[in-house]
Amino acid sequence: MSNGKAMMGQLGGQPVLILPESTLRTRGRDAQRNNIAAAKAVADAIRTTLGPKGMDKMLVDSIGDIVITNDGVTILDEMEIEHPAAKMMVEVAKTQNEEVGDGTTTAVIITGELLKKAEELLDQEIHPTVITKGFKIAKEEALKILSESAKSISLEDVETLKKIVITAISGKSVERASPKLAGLIVDAVKTIAQKIGNKIVIDKDNVKRVKKHGGSSEETELVRGIIIDKEVVHPGMPKKFENAKIALVDAALEVKETETDAEIRITSPEQMQAFIGQEQKMLKEMVEKITASNANVLFCQKGIDDLAQHYLAKKGILTARRVKKSDIEALAKATGARIVSNLDDLTSGDLGFAKLVEEQKIAGESMIFVRECKDPKAVTILVRGSTEHVVDEVDRSVEDAIGALASAIELGKIVAGAGAPEEQVARKLKKIAEKYSGREQLAVLGFADAMEIVPRSLAENAGLDPIDTLVALRAAHEQGKINFGINVLSGKTVDAYEIGVIDPLKVKIQAITSAAEAAEMILRIDDVIAASKLEKGPPMPGMPPGEI
Ligand code: ADP
Ligand code: MG
Repeated sequence: MSNGKAMMGQLGGQPVLILPESTLRTRGRDAQRNNIAAAKAVADAIRTTLGPKGMDKMLVDSIGDIVITNDGVTILDEMEIEHPAAKMMVEVAKTQNEEVGDGTTTAVIITGELLKKAEELLDQEIHPTVITKGFKIAKEEALKILSESAKSISLEDVETLKKIVITAISGKSVERASPKLAGLIVDAVKTIAQKIGNKIVIDKDNVKRVKKHGGSSEETELVRGIIIDKEVVHPGMPKKFENAKIALVDAALEVKETETDAEIRITSPEQMQAFIGQEQKMLKEMVEKITASNANVLFCQKGIDDLAQHYLAKKGILTARRVKKSDIEALAKATGARIVSNLDDLTSGDLGFAKLVEEQKIAGESMIFVRECKDPKAVTILVRGSTEHVVDEVDRSVEDAIGALASAIELGKIVAGAGAPEEQVARKLKKIAEKYSGREQLAVLGFADAMEIVPRSLAENAGLDPIDTLVALRAAHEQGKINFGINVLSGKTVDAYEIGVIDPLKVKIQAITSAAEAAEMILRIDDVIAASKLEKGPPMPGMPPGEI
């Protein structure tokens, strides 16, 4: 370990300390090795989850809560990673998840493999700057190769859209339910897709997901409207309306309490009666304003006085109170209602419509379903599964699938999956590398090799011989079969489009971009200076205290 004294100045022969004594410091090759080792460890940890035959991980946190998942970003999130370079890998997964919603494992394992190749180059005394330059060239070329081989898709091509969803959820625990699930996810995303100019924009927030365990994942359903996790507020109210006319109010149906310091002197029973009477009258008037609009359903964001509830029940209005702001907003998008703050403003023009509003018991809990809205701009997927752990994993799969679908539709481009695009990039990059001189060429070649981690892992995870499979895959690509990937069921190489394994171009672009950038960032570091956390016990593994 070379803990240098560079941070120590000299003053008349006396060393000058510029960092606290407890600072941990590693430099040069040690810092690089250490960072690369940590990043590779993270990649290795999730490599076995890649693809339809990938395994799941069971994560137990410090208080014993369990998460069972196959989802890269969830695993890394739950792992409570400490090492700074490893944390950068977690960032790669998070960025991938936020930007495109799928491909997190792919992004992380490519990063790990790029660093592994970089380490081999460092061992050959190639400077990190040369390596990062080569990687940058390779990344740009890789993106070009991918874009050139991509195919266009449209919102109308439902069959292809379903294949994208099935590819995104295969290997997750919901695989069994996938044809039906794929249909409803495509339906949901198509419903909320908006044409803005000649672009299609998908706001994923407009597909709400409500999780309920106790049932099978087959029972997952699409509601063309919104599910409100509330009961009808008063037992005397109807629990169901066909052709519902819906009022959304974000003010309370209450008479404001008199302020504490305002004194009201009531000197006679008549006065008391008059006072109460006044309150009653005000509440009654509020309810009358609602009935005057012709509404038969009311969702109120604030509270509703008991007496107002009673009047509403008498008028036969299905009512829920203290509905979440986000739900009220979603209801507005789904039903076309306008949210009203002042009851005086409420007119029939503000009401929204739904073919059916009903309170329903799901797994023993009452919820209000606002169904069959006309042309809804927000919809809900009721995610079901037998236990909480299953529901959570189904929900993550649905989220991935929505992400993948949105990415595919927004860019309008897809590529073959099953390791085909990565193999294609690897092969073409090797040709392109010849254009570059010695050391840079080695870096481009390293990048090319790193791409093959995807087909290799798919093969390994499916219990196939990775060497034989890669040899067959390379041979197919050599013959110009650029969409050939690995059929993990048969173990043969096949045209991925033919077996319906399709990935969005955007997911692949994002994975390669963030992998290349993270690898570059980690490679540029040659000095790690960490403030020590004394109370946290031993220092990071492989990091001796700096002698500063
Ligand atoms: P990620 O987090 O990167 O999305 P996944 O575990 O979802 O990881 O695996 C995605 C990879 O699995 C993609 O390369 C995709 O093309 C591939 N894949 C999905 N379904 C199949 C299949 N039936 N056969 C072969 N490869 C598949
Ligand atoms: Mg995926």
